Amino acid sequence: MTHEIILAFLCVFGAVLHWQLSLALHTFFLHRYHTHGQFSMSVYWQRFFYILTFLLQGPAFLKPETYRKLHLAHHEFSDTEYDPHSPSNYLTSSTKHKFWKPLFAMMLDTKKIFEEIQANKHWISGRYGKKIAIDWKGFETVSNSKEATLLMGALYILLWCLVIPYWILLVFLPIILLNGPLQGAIVNWFGHVKGTRNFDIPDNSKNTPGAPLMNGELYQNNHHQFPESPNLGCGPGEFDPIYHLMIRPLLMLRIIHLSQKAKDELNAIKTWQANLPKSPSA
Ligand SMILES: [Zn+2]
Ligand SMILES: [Zn+2]
Repeated sequence: MTHEIILAFLCVFGAVLHWQLSLALHTFFLHRYHTHGQFSMSVYWQRFFYILTFLLQGPAFLKPETYRKLHLAHHEFSDTEYDPHSPSNYLTSSTKHKFWKPLFAMMLDTKKIFEEIQANKHWISGRYGKKIAIDWKGFETVSNSKEATLLMGALYILLWCLVIPYWILLVFLPIILLNGPLQGAIVNWFGHVKGTRNFDIPDNSKNTPGAPLMNGELYQNNHHQFPESPNLGCGPGEFDPIYHLMIRPLLMLRIIHLSQKAKDELNAIKTWQANLPKSPSA
């Protein structure tokens, strides 16, 4: 009995750790590296992080090129009718006091748009060209295939069923299986609905409380102002774990190298920080 309780705690810890690691690779590799090109790395490290992202996202692996195009359209048309996943397009007068219904509607539509972009059947498909930052055709074909999705889904389910001591822990399975899309939905919904703004820009982006728990991704207002900056938590009291605990050590180890645009935006942030009004000293 005691062993089973310890194992149950370890399983919950493992599920949380998996969520955080998959989100770390989601933001580091798919978002900041492949989509925004904030830094570069050698082809060997690129392949290492590509495989790691695939293994951690498993059956919900977000195909890098499709993700890049979807996300660039979100930046270009943020919170307009052309934004592929803006909460403002779902918060109509009849749904503005509701939560789950519009959020799920946005998730389902985003899934549909993602598949249409993937199949070259959406206007976003041809808008942002082809980026060959991840130029590994063989692995791209394998990791994007339906067979890989099914195999990874079966492996995830099998592994979880083998380790859990109580069937009640199956409630974690949907979160484990759908980690990438769920992370995207949380960021795109709350990061454009709840929170404060450091920058008055023409969209609804916010910096949402609890952003460090989402590895900095919920600093949407900062990110929309400085999309090339690897530090998303640039305001007073804000902390972006991925920048401080992953990107900075990797820069020091010379595994990754900042782009010129990233350097320029980090300098622009320093200037902005220096000009913030000072609070009176005690
Ligand atoms: Zn956004
Ligand atoms: Zn972005």
